[in-house]
Amino acid sequence: MKTIGILGGMSWESTQHYYRLINEEVRERLGGLNSARILLASVNFQDVEPHMRAGNWDEVAATLCDHALRLERAGADFLVLATNTMHKLAPRIEQRISIPLLHIADATARNIMDMGLATVGLLGTRHTMEEDFYTARLVRHGLTPLVPESVPERAEVDRIIFQELCRGRVLNESRRAYDDIIAKLAARGAEAVILGCTEIGLLVSSGPVPLIDTTSVHARAAVRLALDGF
Ligand code: GLU
Repeated sequence: MKTIGILGGMSWESTQHYYRLINEEVRERLGGLNSARILLASVNFQDVEPHMRAGNWDEVAATLCDHALRLERAGADFLVLATNTMHKLAPRIEQRISIPLLHIADATARNIMDMGLATVGLLGTRHTMEEDFYTARLVRHGLTPLVPESVPERAEVDRIIFQELCRGRVLNESRRAYDDIIAKLAARGAEAVILGCTEIGLLVSSGPVPLIDTTSVHARAAVRLALDGF
């Protein structure tokens, strides 16, 4: 079994689910007392988020590369960056480490292709929805991503992530807002909706079309890589 290096803490609300989901999957696959070999480097998100907000990505990259290198030196066989948004920096992290990075958008796209779907809604932070580091990756896999059409809707999706979900606040009114936005994506032709932020699964779990929870897809892909090597 390979050792999984999780770079988390963004936020820890979702990192704890990675730990549980990976171990549950290993127990289901191997039985007995089997559990995953995991190394966890968890950042203080308060040190990171203001730099993101200010667009100071060099500072964020320095922190993430430092933690990724620590995982590699400690013996991780591959890296799981436990956030969608920070995959904006995946190429810079990959340049600094020699172990593979299991890209969350690749794992997600493969899952959707296996379901035989092509047009997918995408919810996440404004970086994930509005920049192209994530959507272009989905397109390369042959998918057609749709993000919420209006700026206020995307701002609300982003606000709920940072002001509520990353702080452990799960509110019914926010669930209703997400439900409405998911329904609009489905009405525009989305055959599934990617919960492209690792905390969204804490808020919504079902909708008019399948919801693809990137936390659980990424965790399952990590177990496959650890146990089967692909
Ligand atoms: N966990 C979130 C994500 O999956 C957002 C927090 C972050 O910016 O890393 O995108």
